[in-house]
Amino acid sequence: MAVIIDGKKISQQIKDELKEKVQKLRAEGKHGALAVIQVGTDPASGVYVRNKKNACAYIGIDSLAYELPEETGEEELLGLIEELNQKEEVKGILVQLPLPEHICEDRVIQAISPEKDVDGFHPWNTGKLTIGEPGFVSCTPAGIIQLLKRSGVETEGKNCVVIGRSNIVGKPMALLMLRENATVTIAHSRTRNLPEICRQADILIVAVGKPQLIGAEYVKKGAVVIDVGIHRDENNRLCGDVKFDEVEPLASAITPVPGGVGPMTIAMLMNNCVQSIETGQEG
Ligand code: NAP
Repeated sequence: MAVIIDGKKISQQIKDELKEKVQKLRAEGKHGALAVIQVGTDPASGVYVRNKKNACAYIGIDSLAYELPEETGEEELLGLIEELNQKEEVKGILVQLPLPEHICEDRVIQAISPEKDVDGFHPWNTGKLTIGEPGFVSCTPAGIIQLLKRSGVETEGKNCVVIGRSNIVGKPMALLMLRENATVTIAHSRTRNLPEICRQADILIVAVGKPQLIGAEYVKKGAVVIDVGIHRDENNRLCGDVKFDEVEPLASAITPVPGGVGPMTIAMLMNNCVQSIETGQEG
């Protein structure tokens, strides 16, 4: 029987720690707001934006909501970002992705001041991660590191396989595991012999974005399995990239979906915001 890594509980601990920190910072006269920009009315994005505002309210930081219509032009969006870059009280700027097709996401990400890029997507911050300097780190991979640390999972010298090489999950995840002294392999859609490679992993981190792709044949007995995926199955129930029922008996520890990686993303976003308020710059 695997230990079930409880992301709900761990994210709550982090938010409670941050709440206390925010109170102390306020007493020192340090405060600031997170600006959240949403373009269009995608229902999933709406839920994420609402959760972010609620998390801000919970830990005690201000949030500013900008809900722009679907037809908003790129120049208009870039103009708003520039305005927010200049505003002293705004310590974090987040543009909810995906954006409508007529807006270039890369241009938008790069318009955000790196010092307010609490999502950690700006090339300045991804570059800092690459060279091992402090900076804002993408929230989902940063949350996975917290899950591992707070669950007592040893990383040093362990074989870690990350499946997925996206800029927001796979690549920063691999760099963070490297920072934790794991021996890291990145697998992707062109990887040959994927099950065999995955079976080398002491820690298997799955971010493929394919519902229940990863079954028992990918998992070594005793491995720690982290499932980043989030999907709806044919019965409209939430599921991950991993076949939980098949993999759980083999694993020593595993994250469930829901209640594993998901709640950590917002907790780490809050962490980045607090860091920005605390230092006035990236942490
Ligand atoms: P993505 O941009 O679609 O990247 C998926 C990666 O998986 C790509 O690198 C792709 O390889 C690789 N891949 C796809 N099919 C594969 C296969 N059959 N075998 C091996 N590799 C394969 O997705 P993402 O943004 O990284 O997100 C991954 C998953 O995490 C999604 O389900 C997403 O919803 C979820 N997610 C969850 C959270 C959270 O808070 N829980 C946050 C972010 C993302 P190529 O590069 O070769 O195409």
